Amino acid sequence: TQETADLLKEKLKETFGFSQFRGEQEDIIKNTLSGENTFVIMPTGAGKSLCYQMPAIAMEGTAIVISPLIALMKNQVDQMNAFGINAQFLNSSLNRAEMTKVKNAVIKGEVKLLYIAPESLTKEDNLTFLKQANISFVAIDEAHCISEWGHDFRPEYRRIRNIVESMDKALPIIALTATATPKVQQDIQKNLNLDDARLFKSSFNRKNLYYEIRAKRDDIDKQIIKYIKVNHGKAGIIYCLSRKKVEEIANLLNVNGIKALPYHAGLDSDVRMANQEAFLNEETEVMVATIAFGMGIDKPDVRFVIHYDAPKSLEGYYQETGRAGRDGLEGTCIMFYAKEDINKLDKFNKDKTVVERDTARMLLHEMVHYANLGTCRRRQLLNYFGEHMDKDCGFCDNCNKPTPKYKVEEAVVLALQT
Ligand code: ADP
Ligand code: MG
Repeated sequence: TQETADLLKEKLKETFGFSQFRGEQEDIIKNTLSGENTFVIMPTGAGKSLCYQMPAIAMEGTAIVISPLIALMKNQVDQMNAFGINAQFLNSSLNRAEMTKVKNAVIKGEVKLLYIAPESLTKEDNLTFLKQANISFVAIDEAHCISEWGHDFRPEYRRIRNIVESMDKALPIIALTATATPKVQQDIQKNLNLDDARLFKSSFNRKNLYYEIRAKRDDIDKQIIKYIKVNHGKAGIIYCLSRKKVEEIANLLNVNGIKALPYHAGLDSDVRMANQEAFLNEETEVMVATIAFGMGIDKPDVRFVIHYDAPKSLEGYYQETGRAGRDGLEGTCIMFYAKEDINKLDKFNKDKTVVERDTARMLLHEMVHYANLGTCRRRQLLNYFGEHMDKDCGFCDNCNKPTPKYKVEEAVVLALQT
């Protein structure tokens, strides 16, 4: 009704300071409020969090948010608390006393959003606790983690459905992801039993992102330093394949007077958290990272994402570049590409099973094709997500320079097929 609509808009302004809903946010929120199941597929930066944060505030009880990463939970909880909303998390970063405190607050009905890691969800005493709590609905963020065809498979995600059903079969569920490939979509629906859910899927076109691919040559470090210096003061992420490379490039940038920090899974969790914080708080300009960094991190003003090495899949590439320009302003995505890197990536597939290797090679093959393409990048990228564009975008390197920079490297393509 108009009344609920006005009320929601008022809450949006009052709590978040936004004057308007974006895209389908309002309909999604209403769907959860009405007790229906919801499946949301929207690109990174579209504003998926609000789709469960708003109903959580509006409904009685505590909303459970299942989220795959500690860093991600902390980021969101901090944000919600800053808005004056009582949000808490339950994960392995808390000690026993802290956990008890959080649980008591939930039982007392003080908490609007409780973020839980999937592995905490499955713990016996947490299950007992959840059965006692007054829960409004369950949100499953980054739902693609349930699928092996996604870019971030988490086996524990497979257990969510049983656990939720053991809590209360009637709880509304909202699953959210930025992964749009049909295979992943099907996996999510099947695993979460969401066949009855209303689907909200929006376009994956990130119009404000400029896509560029450069041939990777000996002068790559110089090119990167130059790019950052020209764009002084802007925040950016540089993705590298190995931890060693991450450290090396972070050092190199520091030596050149650029504030940069490393982030990879080999660092202690407190160092990782401190570095992430420094990046979010603008104490550092550049985050040099492996793909361990970034999922769900809400830094709206990342102005560039550089791939020092080619990613393993187009899906990964889209997710990683998607961290630029979340505020809707321009973002530049530069990938340095060399066919040697593809061979290097393919070597990781050596010890896999035949099926896994074939999957990985197929994904890699699409990546190679994209990198070598002389036509509109956006067209190709959206095509991958099943979207069709009528016209070239005019906002990528190939649209700016219609002649292909290099030809399809037959040798690589053939090597991948064997
Ligand atoms: P996603 O999870 O889809 O990647 P987020 O939920 O992290 O995206 O939101 C991305 C950014 O958009 C955040 O900075 C968020 O505050 C902002 N945002 C979300 N909804 C709105 C809105 N209705 N108006 C303005 N900004 C919004
Ligand atoms: Mg998100």
